[in-house]
Amino acid sequence: MVITIKCAASNCYLLKNDSRSAGILVDAGLSADLGRLKKRLKAENVRLILLTHGHFDHIGAAARLSEDLRIPVAMSREDFPLLTDPSLGRLHGSTVLGSLLAASACLTMNKRAFPPFIPSVWLRDGQSLSEFGVDARVVALPGHTKGSVGVLTSEKEFMVGDAMFNIFKATGARLYEDFEQMKRSLEVIKSSGAKQIYVGHGRPIDPAGSLALSAFA
Ligand SMILES: [Zn+2]
Repeated sequence: MVITIKCAASNCYLLKNDSRSAGILVDAGLSADLGRLKKRLKAENVRLILLTHGHFDHIGAAARLSEDLRIPVAMSREDFPLLTDPSLGRLHGSTVLGSLLAASACLTMNKRAFPPFIPSVWLRDGQSLSEFGVDARVVALPGHTKGSVGVLTSEKEFMVGDAMFNIFKATGARLYEDFEQMKRSLEVIKSSGAKQIYVGHGRPIDPAGSLALSAFA
């Protein structure tokens, strides 16, 4: 099951197994979200902090959470360079809203500080997460960033990070490093059979109603 934890600038998700005995935290908000996340996760047996990509609004509290709750952090190797130099991941947008978001994200990212960390688990496409107590696997969804990943559970719940947005309506990533990759990842999501899609920004998407839309419909 997927539990949404609303953070200041993005959604985090607590993914729990059927018996609710173990869980994975998907994304870690801003550094300012540390208190909120710690409080929410204190009584949970979280076995992994999984970061969908290396942007400040998804990784901010990861280092401190990992230290304080003694939980390993996982992300893709491709996004690791963004932790030390966010300007490497130049973002583009092709709609008016996307271009505005991209411009403000680039400005914010270059100034935004977060505690440094080195992930102890590197994620790759198809990787099972069963060793962390959850029946789910990693799906590579590059485009928004080079190393963006999603998590698809056996119940067909799909946490896609920023590979889709639901701001005003469901679309592909409104800002991206690579447009063609982003479109291919959107096709991966569409053909996954997901019953519910959980995004970094906005409410969950019901694919039955939304995925007939093109990337920028
Ligand atoms: Zn992002």
